Amino acid sequence: MRNNIIPFSCEYALHLMDESKKSGEADYIVFPRSSEEIAEILKYCSEKEIPVTVQGSRTGVGGGAVPFGGLVMSLEKLKGLQAGKDDRSVIAGAAVPLSEISRYVRRMSGDRLFLPPDPTETTASAGGVVCCNSSGARTFGYGAMREFVKRLRVVTAEGRILDIPRGKYFAGGRKLDLSIPDENGRAFTLKAALPSYTVPSVKNAAGYWIREDMDLIDLFIGAEGTLGVIVEAEFSLAPKPPLIWGLISFFPEEGQGVSFAESLKSQPGHGCISMEYFDSGSLGLLLQKQEEMKGTLSWHLPEGFAEAVFLEVTAEDKREMTERIRLIEKEIRKAGGDPGRAWIAGSSRSFESFKELRHATPEAVNARVAENKKSHPGITKLGSDMSVPEGFITDTIKMYRKDLDEAGLQYVIFGHIGNDHLHVNVISRNEEEYLRGKEIYEGWARRVSELGGSVSAEHGVGKLKREFLRIMYGEKSIGEMRKLKKVFDPKGILGRDNIFLWK
Ligand SMILES: Cc1cc2nc3c(=O)[nH]c(=O)nc-3n(C[C@H](O)[C@H](O)[C@H](O)COP(=O)(O)OP(=O)(O)OC[C@H]3O[C@@H](n4cnc5c(N)ncnc54)[C@H](O)[C@@H]3O)c2cc1C
Repeated sequence: MRNNIIPFSCEYALHLMDESKKSGEADYIVFPRSSEEIAEILKYCSEKEIPVTVQGSRTGVGGGAVPFGGLVMSLEKLKGLQAGKDDRSVIAGAAVPLSEISRYVRRMSGDRLFLPPDPTETTASAGGVVCCNSSGARTFGYGAMREFVKRLRVVTAEGRILDIPRGKYFAGGRKLDLSIPDENGRAFTLKAALPSYTVPSVKNAAGYWIREDMDLIDLFIGAEGTLGVIVEAEFSLAPKPPLIWGLISFFPEEGQGVSFAESLKSQPGHGCISMEYFDSGSLGLLLQKQEEMKGTLSWHLPEGFAEAVFLEVTAEDKREMTERIRLIEKEIRKAGGDPGRAWIAGSSRSFESFKELRHATPEAVNARVAENKKSHPGITKLGSDMSVPEGFITDTIKMYRKDLDEAGLQYVIFGHIGNDHLHVNVISRNEEEYLRGKEIYEGWARRVSELGGSVSAEHGVGKLKREFLRIMYGEKSIGEMRKLKKVFDPKGILGRDNIFLWK
């Protein structure tokens, strides 16, 4: 075939899945090495109306990178990493993993700068984190990936290569009327109406991000690859705080950890850049893992606690850090915890072990679900990703617990309490439990949308949460998104059926 496209065979079986563990099918696969090659391939696929599923590192959990026929375009050969012009930014090829970007930035800046959003999965690619507007624990202090995307190089569905810097191309109200020179200096004309819905002002990665007079670059961020292929991204970097310490506090009773986080958030000068929550189910799962791994882990959890909160605390110097830790200890005591049992990590080694503990939660859930799937192939991980406006998290957790306990399901609740955004993972033991869980999630999507929250705060919609997006924005808005996509991708080849059904 043309353009190094090869027929799909079982040798590439891993490319039929992402971390949602949903599995698809494909007719062809290609591993392009340059923007020009991608442009040729997309031109050809647009002419022939062949759907193209773009893949970064396939760590997405929404099924966005899972193909359902057509061509898989794996970007794994698009490496390349260099400093931006002013040495305060970094330019990465689509496939460069976040871990490599962090290492490079550390070296390049003498550990003075960093890329703050840290999606827990550091193998995620530069292109993938832009397409999903990923975020992580530090989004509490710094915002999501969107805030750090300075420039994108994009190949459109019809093979035009565009350079989109921040601050250059803007909508007028809710209309795009732009002329952008492509790689060869030819004008790419863009005339489109932007959807009329209001994006909620919570942490959000659900559907196209729309604002009056918006910057065009923001349309590509979080569009899950449906509007163009991101071949290169330039990220701005932030100065690294001189001190970042980790602190984990444990609470004996349910609700105390949540009250602690809520109260601490309202205190000026807390210095926290992340606030992560673990419920009793998460702690139980981690204790089991600890037992199974018999002393080989970098952490050792105490028993008998119902909740824990992991903070990353920053300060300019030791004196400021001491003041901040004192404030936090006071808050722990006020909520019913014992500051004497809190773990504090000042050195980078013990700090890394705290981060490993945080990462171990979704990993332990994934392992458990994979085990159950062996005897019940119809199940996959059921993970919620909803955020709510400030002040609603306590009632939202109560709603989660009540519904899941009544249904007799096994679950864990953990994540970004600082952003009022927690993940509920149901560990289904059979297909019936899986379906019961799915139904419950749909009810939550309705409730959270009514509150002004988002049905997907960071993972994106992919192919698994389209129904939730419909609940959040309604049919009319989905139609408006489809119409907008048609302007960028008239044949609907890119990320077909991601976010919404193409037809
Ligand atoms: C254990 C674990 C923890 C996680 N924790 C977090 C977390 O804390 N926060 C968070 O936000 N996410 C998290 N994720 C989800 C995942 O890591 C992110 O969604 C990430 O952004 C996906 O990047 P990727 O390179 O793997 O993209 P993929 O999974 O390959 O693709 C994701 C989507 O983007 C599209 N795409 C990818 N690259 C491009 C490109 N260059 N051009 C056009 N389209 C493209 C794909 O078609 C797909 O729709 C976690 C995942 C795991 C497994």
